[in-house]
Amino acid sequence: MEKYLLHIDGERRASSTGEFFESDNPFEGRPWAQIARGNSDDVDRAVTAAHRAMTSGPWAEMTQSHRGLVLTTIADHLAQNAELLACIEVRDNGKLYSEMLGQCQYLPNWFRYYGGLADKIEGTVVPIDKPGYFAYTQKSPVGVVGIITPWNSPLLLLVWKLAPALAAGCSVVIKPSEYTSASTLEFVRLLEEAGLPAGVVNVVTGFGVEVGSPLVDHPLVRKISFTGSDATGRRIGEQASRQFKHVSLELGGKSPNIVFEDADIESAVNGAVSGIFAATGQTCIAGSRLLVQRSIHDEVVEKVVALARSARMGDPMDSQTQVGPVTTRDQFDKVLHYIDVGREDGATLALGGKAATGGDCGNGWFVEPTIYTGVNNASRLAQEEVFGPVLAVIAFDTEEEAVAIANDSRYGLGAGVWTQNMGRAFRVSAAVHSGTVWVNTYRAVSYMMPFGGFKDSGLGRENGIGAVDDYLETKSVWINTGAPVGNPFVMR
Ligand code: NAD
Repeated sequence: MEKYLLHIDGERRASSTGEFFESDNPFEGRPWAQIARGNSDDVDRAVTAAHRAMTSGPWAEMTQSHRGLVLTTIADHLAQNAELLACIEVRDNGKLYSEMLGQCQYLPNWFRYYGGLADKIEGTVVPIDKPGYFAYTQKSPVGVVGIITPWNSPLLLLVWKLAPALAAGCSVVIKPSEYTSASTLEFVRLLEEAGLPAGVVNVVTGFGVEVGSPLVDHPLVRKISFTGSDATGRRIGEQASRQFKHVSLELGGKSPNIVFEDADIESAVNGAVSGIFAATGQTCIAGSRLLVQRSIHDEVVEKVVALARSARMGDPMDSQTQVGPVTTRDQFDKVLHYIDVGREDGATLALGGKAATGGDCGNGWFVEPTIYTGVNNASRLAQEEVFGPVLAVIAFDTEEEAVAIANDSRYGLGAGVWTQNMGRAFRVSAAVHSGTVWVNTYRAVSYMMPFGGFKDSGLGRENGIGAVDDYLETKSVWINTGAPVGNPFVMR
């Protein structure tokens, strides 16, 4: 088995207890690597190293232009190592190699984009309304950032945080998911190979309570950037607020994918299947509620069922495979539980409904693509995030009803709108409460486009120019150029 150590101050180190835990290969259903089991002492060592890197040495003294250059050099190095990273991702989380390779080839763009922004971070001279003053603002890095990531797209979701944090001049301690730690460790090794100074990015692997929570609590950490479930996000938000830390939270979703009768049906069917069965439904933006106008309901359901039924399950490394295993044993059990919940809710099973075994599925944690029709939007299946290949189909009659059902959710991350009527596309996009709306497409993301959630789907936006501001503090400087310092008891 492979062995992975912590990464602190540019060195691979055992955890302070010397303990390890195992990481599973979901296609083989057995462990493939041992990962160092970090704890609060290791968090302290990593945060201390990160703090040192921010206060003295090459990173602290680097000009913004130079920082940008380091980020673009990293981009080139990552591009050369995309295949290596994709292979580790597949081994750890079971997603398709074709998808993970595409993701890993796309990652360098974040470093190019934010590398280009690094020397455009600037304050402003404020034409202040009070005579005798010169007033300006200055931007400075917020401090040491704690990054906590989930297992479904470990590197992609890490890069969304890391690239803007580094562009801002911050240093970082990463706590990857205990299910998928290996790719992050390999990734950080590549960053340093490309010239990132030691101590700027550190990784402490381990469990949420043993590593994540001490990271949130550490007094030298000034910002927590988290992606994961809303339950953990709520806990982290409460914990961080006790020390008034900056927090951004990218959480779960129950995204509506709305198909109107004037849609291009073939595209909408492809979009519906891609929304929920690509990545085995394990994406925060999964289009897990398919809202279909009643006049085309049966036709759409029939086509979605036929396409999903034909999906090939199997080895995620095989280019012919379309649906891979569920990433973790716990998640596999959770998905099967929700399939039972759908049954208990009284929905009609139109496809799947059980684990897939034998054949190309080997010993992997596979669940058949599952479709329920006649789902009541108030039911648990429509309201709770399954995070797996389970689709809830809901019929509607009018545009107003579609919008009302779409918005009747505590989440608000993504939404799909399928229509050829542009007026309707604008109306529904404006009316749906979600951070992203895709019209006649689904699942598109880019380093340029802000991403984040309304309501319980989170706090803050990642990607786009504005994301750098989340890693900066603004200082206002007032210089008295000759104004008399008058009555001390009256504020001027
Ligand atoms: P999770 O909340 O269980 O874990 C996420 C991370 O938090 C892990 O690293 C975990 O170890 C850590 N953690 C757990 N308890 C902690 C604690 N008390 N203190 C600090 N850290 C702690 O989520 P998951 O199961 O890994 O990921 C799936 C979830 O992530 C889904 O809900 C999904 O929707 C969400 N997600 C959101 C986005 C987005 O951008 N909005 C993207 C991907 C996934």
